Amino acid sequence: MRAVRFHRFGEPEVLVYEDIPDPELGPGEAVVRVRACGVNHLDLDIRSGISRLGISLPHILGREVAGEVAALGPDAGGFRVGDRVLVAIIGGCGRCPFCRTGRDNLCPEARRPGINRPGGYAELVVARVEDLIPVPRGLGFEEAAAVPIAFGTAYHMLITQGGLKVGETVLINAAGSTIGTAAIQVARAAGARVVVTAGSEAKLERARELGAHDGVNYSLPGWENRILELTDGRGPDVIFEHVGGEVFKRSLAILAVDGRLCVCGGHAGEIVDLDLISLFRKQARVIGSFSATRREVELALDLVARGELRPVIHGVYPLAEARLVHKLLASRANFGKLILNP
Ligand code: ZN
Repeated sequence: MRAVRFHRFGEPEVLVYEDIPDPELGPGEAVVRVRACGVNHLDLDIRSGISRLGISLPHILGREVAGEVAALGPDAGGFRVGDRVLVAIIGGCGRCPFCRTGRDNLCPEARRPGINRPGGYAELVVARVEDLIPVPRGLGFEEAAAVPIAFGTAYHMLITQGGLKVGETVLINAAGSTIGTAAIQVARAAGARVVVTAGSEAKLERARELGAHDGVNYSLPGWENRILELTDGRGPDVIFEHVGGEVFKRSLAILAVDGRLCVCGGHAGEIVDLDLISLFRKQARVIGSFSATRREVELALDLVARGELRPVIHGVYPLAEARLVHKLLASRANFGKLILNP
């Protein structure tokens, strides 16, 4: 099969489009013919060797795999050749305390395509059948591949971890990112007032089209004061933070009393100072949020299939263009999801 692999960590040029043997099919497994694979910022971190994940080389990236079942191994029941499926981003072990309490996103033994198993930058992927999620009728492969990380993470972060309630105000930072476009829609669906930050007027306009009520350009000085003005001086009840560094610090400074600052990323500065006095006096909560449970991904898929949520896809590219797609994502020129189609 054709696949994109890298044999050493580095710049996008380490990605090589090459012929490799087809993956072997074992008991309880299915071969999925990949029709669409989402590209994520994590892919760039893994490729450049800064992800802090144990990656063995050569490696095939690709967390969000949608396609058709092409073959089934022995004892692989429940699916038929031709079924349209998504491969779970986290295949929980089913036995650990996290899996047994519906928190499979935290399973230490989880199968994670594109991290500890070969991912979807390839024509074929092998997955255990229990990790296959049927793609709802009416949903295309590209839309399905755009759901798990953006909408799953937004749902987990805002609803499960952040406890966002009807009528609360939420700030979505970097709303032009794929996860930002998902968070705007999840927050609106939850009945919140949505304010956003983005790096350009054009991105703010797109964010408003997706449902944001108000927006502030974070490249202008004093953007956090403008957010305070938009919230009558109270600050947002919940902040969706995935930027880090100075943005994290300013976000915490404007968080409402008893507010929740939810974090799922921090590329702009992974180590930050924290004003502990301000933290406890306003009873702020800083909440980490990791990925999404399988159930949350299934809920998000259903909401997308019903038209309640709409994946924003910037573009679909041939697998051979993986280097270009990585450069595009690194430049932040995209608005929404980048998809590879092998
Ligand atoms: Zn587990």
